[in-house]
Amino acid sequence: MKYLAKNNNESPKRQWSLKDFDVGKPLGKGKFGRVYLAREVRSKYIVALKVIFREQMKKYGIHRQLMREMEIQTSLRHPNILRLYGWFHDAERIFMILEYAHRGELYRELRKNGHLSEKQAATYMLSLTQALAYCHEKDVIHRDIKPENLLLDHEGRLKIGDFGWAVQSRSKRYTMCGTLDYLAPEMVENKGHDFAIDNWTMGILCYEFLYGVPPFEAESQSDTFQRIRKVELNFPSTPRISTEARDLIGRLLVKDSSKRLSLQEIEEHPWIIKNADPSGICNTR
Ligand code: AMP
Repeated sequence: MKYLAKNNNESPKRQWSLKDFDVGKPLGKGKFGRVYLAREVRSKYIVALKVIFREQMKKYGIHRQLMREMEIQTSLRHPNILRLYGWFHDAERIFMILEYAHRGELYRELRKNGHLSEKQAATYMLSLTQALAYCHEKDVIHRDIKPENLLLDHEGRLKIGDFGWAVQSRSKRYTMCGTLDYLAPEMVENKGHDFAIDNWTMGILCYEFLYGVPPFEAESQSDTFQRIRKVELNFPSTPRISTEARDLIGRLLVKDSSKRLSLQEIEEHPWIIKNADPSGICNTR
């Protein structure tokens, strides 16, 4: 890793090309491209190589968004944020050199098990809180925290893996973005949003970790919007979830964004203190 980091950050002139990598098996397919396991030839360091076709970028008009995503992600260094070591391109494709997350999407583990234990959920919540506190300190709002954007490394450590909707800004933003079930009331109502949008999605995520479904899921998009607007929050009787966990969720899913728990208050919440493993290592196997 040092080799990649060093060459990419300390001497920005380092130009990568496909010749620098032995490309291996496909790891997955996203909306805009494919991801492959790859090994940097000189250092033998294993990475994930994300390939995006320019054609696709044009078709979806994502050029600016992708550039912003790459600039933000290369500038971040945190144990719970997937490293983007660099990128390069050829005539048809853009290649992103990413840290390899051995255990793939957290979404898959969540779907496999239906829901997570309180210990797992609290450990992931703590890791995420720390990563988001780091982002917010750098004026980066993530705006699309959800299980599909969270990856796990070989030890089960959570990594925020996608910064597609992130923005670096101190002022209120008005772009409607993110994922339907995770949208905050201020976004649904088009009122302008700030950092507290991520605190809302932490509440949604915690609920989905514990119950297996997001809290405002409904038959139609307009019903979901309606439930979000009214903060129509119900806690099913199964699985049985502790009062402390429900308390944390209830203090994050608050309509008035200034009254939501701060990231520091999440870290200090009794449920987190009692259940989270501060090492961030979570074994779900
Ligand atoms: P994406 O295009 O980012 O949605 O990625 C598509 C799929 O590739 C994901 O669902 C993951 O399973 C896999 N993937 C993406 N990035 C990585 C990575 N850094 N390490 C391991 N697998 C990855």
